[in-house]
Amino acid sequence: MPDSAFTPSRPIPYGRQHITEADEAAVLAALRSDFLTQGPAVAAFEKQFAEYIGARYAVAVSNGTAALHLCALALDVLPGQRVITTPLTFSASANCVRYCGGEVHFADIDPATGLIDLNKVRALLDAHPQGHFTGLIPVDFAGLAVNLEQARALADQYGLWIIEDACHAPGGFFVDSQGQEQRCGNGNFANLAIFSFHPVKHIATGEGGMITTNDEALYRRLLRLRTHGITREPADLIHESHGGWYMEMQELGYNYRLPDLNCALGLSQLARADEGLARRRQLAARYDAAFAPMPGVTVLAPGHAGHAYHLYVIEVADRKGLYDYLRTKQIFTQVHYIPVHCMPYYEGLGWRAGDFPLVEEYYSRCLSIPLFPTLTDEEQDYVVACISEFLTRIKN
Ligand SMILES: *Cc1c(COP(=O)(O)O)cnc(C)c1O
Repeated sequence: MPDSAFTPSRPIPYGRQHITEADEAAVLAALRSDFLTQGPAVAAFEKQFAEYIGARYAVAVSNGTAALHLCALALDVLPGQRVITTPLTFSASANCVRYCGGEVHFADIDPATGLIDLNKVRALLDAHPQGHFTGLIPVDFAGLAVNLEQARALADQYGLWIIEDACHAPGGFFVDSQGQEQRCGNGNFANLAIFSFHPVKHIATGEGGMITTNDEALYRRLLRLRTHGITREPADLIHESHGGWYMEMQELGYNYRLPDLNCALGLSQLARADEGLARRRQLAARYDAAFAPMPGVTVLAPGHAGHAYHLYVIEVADRKGLYDYLRTKQIFTQVHYIPVHCMPYYEGLGWRAGDFPLVEEYYSRCLSIPLFPTLTDEEQDYVVACISEFLTRIKN
């Protein structure tokens, strides 16, 4: 075990963006071009992202939360409709249902993976008449892919749509019943999938998001909803065109566009996505090896080939103690997540601590430790040494 004689030259966060000179040049070129927004970088980013993910269509939007909102709108979520999601996610996964007046319901997690337990989803669906629920929002938590083939079978049986929240998982995959790798967000099972380009995610554009789908009708609706509900497509017009300027606002949409500056950065980052993913997986394997023999540490879902490793999550008994100790060592970990149903807003809607004991038990022990492509081996060894030190010397 390396000792902690090494001191980091700067604080080590749990995640950090990687900006290169190529990224800077790409943004500068966009800044000097004719288009700061609504220009060619948008479609180029969408096309290349769709190819990377393996989906037919992609729609760039201002952030992951806007992506979720547009998905809920495109699927016509109505007041009173009931949608099931996981309590182990960022609140935005659930909030999109509330934006449309729908009701959020939860199914507890499988504690071995951190993913929504599809058996619990089935039990919830079975306990109510057909049509009681309208949708399912699974989350590829930490970068581990939900088995969407199984989720789709369930959704088809009960008449649900699926929005896959793949914010943690660009490049992640699961292996389907035919032995095929199914990439997160590829649109083969979910109606819609969403990604975020917040700097802490795999691909950074400042703020930014993307929706992917294989459904052409949903794709066209999303394009319209992203820009105020406006269309210029001759084939889609309701009235006869008045001339070259003619456009129609056909439904209530928003301005959720992603500017060319951000898309140019996204394109440049996307070119390095596989490299970053490979380094995340390499670092995760190094952590796995370091923690396997270490008593007092449990790794969440180790050894999954398709894991995209947005987060590396460990579970320890004295989580608060470890979090505070690591801060004194310049290591800034994070907790993902405080369960959504425990948030005061959701308590106001009738949910309570105690409703989902498995995710609450997980929450009491989880800690996301540093994982990002530019984390050095030396820094990682230091993180491991500090955790070991806490568990052996400080704690006992
Ligand atoms: C980051 C994130 C979002 C929201 O994305 P923003 O771009 O920050 O709006 C939604 N869901 C999950 C699981 C996320 O990690």
